[in-house]
Amino acid sequence: MTAGKSSIAGEWQAAGTSYFHSVDPRTRKAGETRFYSATAQEIDAAVRAAADAFAATRLFPASTLADFLDTSAEEIEAAADSLVVTADAETALGSVRLTGELARTTGQLRAFSALLREGSHVAAVIDTALPQRTPLPRPDVRRMLLPLGPVAVFSASNFPFAFSTAGGDSAAALAAGCPVVVKGHPGHPATSERFAHAINAAVSACGFPPGFFSLLQGDGHDVGRRLVEHPLLEAVGFTGSLQGGRALHDLAAQRPRPIPVFAEMGSINPVVITAAALAERGAEIVQGLAASATLGAGQFCTNPGLVLLPESEEARTFIADYRDAMLGIEAGILLNAAVESGLTRSVGRSASLEGVRSHTRENANRTDGFCYPHTVLETDAATFLENPDLQEEHFGPVTLFVACSGDEELDRVLRSLAGQLTGSIHCGSEEGESLQPLLDTLRERVGRLIWNGYPTGVEVTAAMQHGGPWPATNAAGTTSVGTNAIRRFLRPVAWQDVPDELLPEALRNGNPLGILRQVNSDFTREPIA
Ligand code: NAP
Repeated sequence: MTAGKSSIAGEWQAAGTSYFHSVDPRTRKAGETRFYSATAQEIDAAVRAAADAFAATRLFPASTLADFLDTSAEEIEAAADSLVVTADAETALGSVRLTGELARTTGQLRAFSALLREGSHVAAVIDTALPQRTPLPRPDVRRMLLPLGPVAVFSASNFPFAFSTAGGDSAAALAAGCPVVVKGHPGHPATSERFAHAINAAVSACGFPPGFFSLLQGDGHDVGRRLVEHPLLEAVGFTGSLQGGRALHDLAAQRPRPIPVFAEMGSINPVVITAAALAERGAEIVQGLAASATLGAGQFCTNPGLVLLPESEEARTFIADYRDAMLGIEAGILLNAAVESGLTRSVGRSASLEGVRSHTRENANRTDGFCYPHTVLETDAATFLENPDLQEEHFGPVTLFVACSGDEELDRVLRSLAGQLTGSIHCGSEEGESLQPLLDTLRERVGRLIWNGYPTGVEVTAAMQHGGPWPATNAAGTTSVGTNAIRRFLRPVAWQDVPDELLPEALRNGNPLGILRQVNSDFTREPIA
């Protein structure tokens, strides 16, 4: 049974009168369950409970937080079948994709757990005193990272598991010891409710304060706005649209006491294909690119939406083959009406520009569900450079090709690009070093460089960078995927000349946690004599 309520510090509540339904994307029909949007009092109660919980959890040892993350992963796995069925009914992403995404979600929780058990995420740095230094003695200074406090997490529509209730942002904040209040995505409220049950079970099993986790249901921006405005909130993690991220970034900055917002937003993920790559592997790249561009009906923030190639006969053949490949793949179901109407608007705008050609084929099999036909847009570099709107994300199965007359024009197009999550280069086998300048230009615009590969599919590892300059994110110094995502919810504090027994264990001379620390410039696990 789905209750349609918000979970506030472990209590299921629905005191409001405003409600919404989840919609089956395959039929466009609303379900019967009423999901009540959280009231102002419920939002306040959730953040107050989170602040109360933080008084305890900020002092929890890393191993206690790690146990909680492991238990959360186990609770999610125990509910896996029902989670996949529920999410499929709300997103139409299919059981294969969702089963993989579930494994990624529990894998993320366990990756943070492993990080906590290893311990060096606190980034302990110690510069011991130099009493003999002249003209002034140097004090003893020791620095480490501490949790920020209650964090609001906004779920994204296109990752009902991995960027939602217990997804990457929640996992990173909880790992940091920060209580989390999730603003559930209105596109998959029943899925969010089931995840909340799993996390609540972990909170109880581990004896954590119930305010460590809450889920607020809501449709419309009021719930999210009130949450971000709450005076006891300390940070926001957001994954979603540029408009949403921008609105919350501005709102948080206008608070009497501004707080950080870490927003991952849209990206068109440029892919450069060189003449040599076209000659050597054109047919192979057609298949790889079309598979990447249509994965998940193109609804990935890492979708390869922009392809730059030389103006040549080979390129024209490549585009024609790509069109055939794209238009030959059956169009998938889109997440919701907003994605469908957004695509109609954004592609319509791009296709109506002078100098842009559009190729599309209606798909008769998909008339019942939310759908948009696979579409290929083509233009030249001059048109692209004159129309910055062509850099707008087409969130779906749409690829824009831009033909460049040579290296100089390609360079100008790359320099004109706004910030991106990724940039890819496909090159010939002999081209390696000659492409260094291209790689160096591209790296100024992106968070991740991909060599002879495709941007969809993001590994969750310590080295991963999922971010980039504005508007890919509003905080280019951070990542929202991989264990370094925890850094967003920690802040550094330095202790100067504080006696050893008053220091956190991570900074004590004896290094009782045995963690890797930087002591007088050297990285070591040794105690300080
Ligand atoms: P969205 O419309 O921005 O919604 C995300 C969340 O923010 C929802 O809970 C939404 O709830 C809330 N929200 C949106 N605008 C708001 C505002 N002005 N004030 C307060 N709350 C607001 O995103 P989406 O539905 O997931 O749409 C897909 C978009 O997300 C695509 O553009 C895609 O590229 C991007 N995305 C990016 C990443 C990434 O890693 N960078 C990952 C996934 C998706 P309410 O509507 O109830 O307010």
